[in-house]
Amino acid sequence: MKEKHLRASLLLLFLFLLLSSSPTLASPPPSHRICVIGSGIAGSSLSHFLKTYSPNPSSLQITIFERNLIVGGRTATVTIAGDTFEAGASIIHPKNLHALKFTSLLNLPIKTQSNKSDSSSWFGIWDGSRFVFKTLQPPTPKSGPPFYAKIVSFLNSLLVFGRYGFSLLRMERFVDKTVGSFLRYYENLESRPVFSTVEEMLKWADLYGLTRRTLQEELADAGLSRRLISELVTVITRINYGQNVSISGLAGAVSLAGSDSGLWSVEGGNWQLAAGLIRHSNASLHLHEEISSVSYTEGLYELNSTKGNSYSCDITVVATPLDEIKISFTPPISIPKRRLQHTHATFVRGLLNPAYFGLSSASEIPELVGTIEAPDLPFSSISILKKYSEEDMTYKVFSRIAMADELLDLIFSTRRETIRINWGAYPHYEAPEAFAPFLLDGLHLYYINAFENAASTIETSSVAAENVARLILSRIDPTSRSDIPTLESTGSHEGENLHVDL
Ligand SMILES: Cc1cc2nc3c(=O)[nH]c(=O)nc-3n(C[C@H](O)[C@H](O)[C@H](O)COP(=O)(O)OP(=O)(O)OC[C@H]3O[C@@H](n4cnc5c(N)ncnc54)[C@H](O)[C@@H]3O)c2cc1C
Repeated sequence: MKEKHLRASLLLLFLFLLLSSSPTLASPPPSHRICVIGSGIAGSSLSHFLKTYSPNPSSLQITIFERNLIVGGRTATVTIAGDTFEAGASIIHPKNLHALKFTSLLNLPIKTQSNKSDSSSWFGIWDGSRFVFKTLQPPTPKSGPPFYAKIVSFLNSLLVFGRYGFSLLRMERFVDKTVGSFLRYYENLESRPVFSTVEEMLKWADLYGLTRRTLQEELADAGLSRRLISELVTVITRINYGQNVSISGLAGAVSLAGSDSGLWSVEGGNWQLAAGLIRHSNASLHLHEEISSVSYTEGLYELNSTKGNSYSCDITVVATPLDEIKISFTPPISIPKRRLQHTHATFVRGLLNPAYFGLSSASEIPELVGTIEAPDLPFSSISILKKYSEEDMTYKVFSRIAMADELLDLIFSTRRETIRINWGAYPHYEAPEAFAPFLLDGLHLYYINAFENAASTIETSSVAAENVARLILSRIDPTSRSDIPTLESTGSHEGENLHVDL
């Protein structure tokens, strides 16, 4: 009996030692179900950063919901005559370091883009009745020796300089300074805080002031001539944001950076960034499933989709602009009113009508026709995407209003194929900007696209998504992320009367 008792005690002691010393039997870290609404670059890079930065990546179950049949959102492509063209985001800046890292991580091929408004390309500024400025047409590779192209490029630089003078250098300095400040968002994680509001994030990089004033005010203070602002700068803001120089200084600087040299894109379509990041981060993807409501009860978010499905999540991330979509939130959330700028992208295969531009031959029309602000000017830009022959080309037209057939038939002499896309493209920028918070309910409902009021690009979505990923990780397990410095919330209460309940 005594022996039996001793054996049982030894067994208990052994079990105790085993349980207290073996790491394999320690309780696993709590798992978190994270639901993401939107499979564009914001949702996909959020998924990537969560998995990359989490000390326990396997404890994160990420589900991404996408209302469309394809991922990528505003990085979609169109196909005309067997060729694929970017229909939304087409160019990426050489200093967009997240996008560069994604392409190398995913092994995606890069295509460099010629800058359409620099001296080596052929562009003209149309005011609705005449070209107020035109560069010289560069020779085609077949039409002259290689040095001839260099001479034309040099002459074009002189032409541009002759028209805008030293103001060009001041514009370059303004853009470089802004890009330099933006580069702070790539500083190492130990010294870079996690931000709970967009205002904090912008103030830290010294960019907030640029969202308080218009581009026009900023550039006039920087000493740019009126002519440069009303012509070249306006052409660029109309192409990149479909708006004029009353956009904020920050959105304006980002737009002007889009005419720098060294621009690139992913061969075959920038949407592959989103697709690759979703795959690489092992997120589960629900295509063609639109989320119609998000309700919070007893520590859980319930997401309902228009398919009638219901999902329970510990954390919900909105990775799409909330301005034009119908998601009902319970309890309701309150964010500043924001209107989206619609850009109509019209793709035409055919030939421009020279008579519309007061010319005798289509070959005299520059490859990029930019426009200034003028009443009744029906388009923002027209550019050649591909030349099949002198009579057959594919063009992209950007406009603020839809291009009706009657109008297209005036602008084009032949039209074999037309594709129209109406984008809720980016915010209609207004200075001073009011920002929604990254954290919508003080719990675990996050909003990446709050940052879009600063600027809207592939890279700004990724930078915002990185911050939201770090914010989530620091809030679900503050002890494991003690290296992440946080800022006390300094959320602005300005413009509270502008809030809208969803
Ligand atoms: C015409 C145009 C030209 C542009 N040019 C450039 C450029 O050259 N370079 C650049 O960097 N940027 C450019 N941009 C901006 C850039 O495309 C965007 O800033 C960026 O792609 C935004 O990504 P996102 O993931 O934040 O949003 P989105 O790409 O809009 O992704 C949101 C996703 O959420 C989905 N969704 C919405 N509601 C729901 C719901 N209820 N349920 C499920 N899914 C939902 C949408 O279908 C969409 O796929 C351009 C944009 C446009 C429109």
